Amino acid sequence: MRVLITGAAGFLGSHLCDRFLAEGHQVVGMDNFITGHPDNIAHLIGHEGFRFVQHDVTDYMYVEGPLDGVLHFASPASPVDYLEQPIPTLKVGSLGTHKALGLAKAKGARLLLASTSEVYGDPQVHPQPETYWGHVNPVGPRGVYDEAKRFAEAITMAYHRFHGVETRIVRIFNTYGPRMRPGDGRVVSNFIVQALRGEPISIYGDGSQTRSFCYVSDLVDGIYRLFNSDRVDPTNIGNPVEFTVRELAELVLRMTGSQSEIAALPLPQDDPKVRQPDITVARSVLGWEPQVPLEEGLRRTIPYFEQMLRDPRQSARTL
Ligand code: NAD
Ligand code: UDP
Repeated sequence: MRVLITGAAGFLGSHLCDRFLAEGHQVVGMDNFITGHPDNIAHLIGHEGFRFVQHDVTDYMYVEGPLDGVLHFASPASPVDYLEQPIPTLKVGSLGTHKALGLAKAKGARLLLASTSEVYGDPQVHPQPETYWGHVNPVGPRGVYDEAKRFAEAITMAYHRFHGVETRIVRIFNTYGPRMRPGDGRVVSNFIVQALRGEPISIYGDGSQTRSFCYVSDLVDGIYRLFNSDRVDPTNIGNPVEFTVRELAELVLRMTGSQSEIAALPLPQDDPKVRQPDITVARSVLGWEPQVPLEEGLRRTIPYFEQMLRDPRQSARTL
């Protein structure tokens, strides 16, 4: 196959490029570097199956040659990033998804949309099955991301129903691992970086809110299976083992041997109180199940951040 991956220089997009290339496919990566970085795909430059195009996907997308797949991953994903970039976030979820669908339609390609557990908002059903419609504040600060993704799902289904485009929608739950920016503001990267630097661990609120953390290799495997499946309806991919934010902080402190103290900071507005994927569908339809528990995933992730913090160029860039 020959596939286009938007957001290729980001955390997840770069791992997806690796997976598709490892399976023997050709990959065109596209990114405008708004939150990603060339370093994430530097190892692919010169690979005969890989091509990179620097482009903002909210503008008309042109890709030469045939395409079998479009994996639309371009979008700021960290709350810190999308709160700093509210309009580009709304645009990439709406206009960017429209352009990606138009390209998929023109090429006869299958489109996979990277959606999110944020479509469930601050959920009143727990854990969250795909049939839950969510509880989102459209005009709150997080609405720029949540509603862009909800629109993206709606237009994806419309292209499927009206134009017959083959589509897949993955609802991704909190995923972590190497190639996250040390400064991107998400909880796993923040806590590891703070612990390694001996700085206070920034717990927002009382730390009783929960998340369910998926290691990147598990997520990529679920996405690869979904892309190759017949499943059109949205599909949760995430690790269903749930932790409080305080438990995560304690685990990171223990695993890094850090003496950092815990600092309580205000809870951001509309921060979901709980989040846990119901992965019954992924288990039965894709035969997928996460393999990497949180402690093992952190063991693989901490050395990456140690390396980043040792590199003055990286520190200057990202922190
Ligand atoms: P990331 O910020 O590391 O990567 C996003 C990439 O998209 C970056 O390289 C960025 O430069 C690029 N991008 C953004 N706007 C663009 C535009 N207009 N044109 C071209 N490129 C653009 O984030 P990530 O964690 O890798 O997330 C990737 C995708 O997965 C996003 O769509 C996100 O919503 C989704 N997602 C991620 C998670 C997670 O836990 N990591 C959870 C739910 C959903
Ligand atoms: N969080 C925290 N300290 C941080 C960053 C995040 O306590 O330094 C909390 C945040 O309030 C949320 C959870 O950790 O309850 C996960 O936040 P993240 O930004 O990783 O992603 P979200 O799931 O909110 O999109």
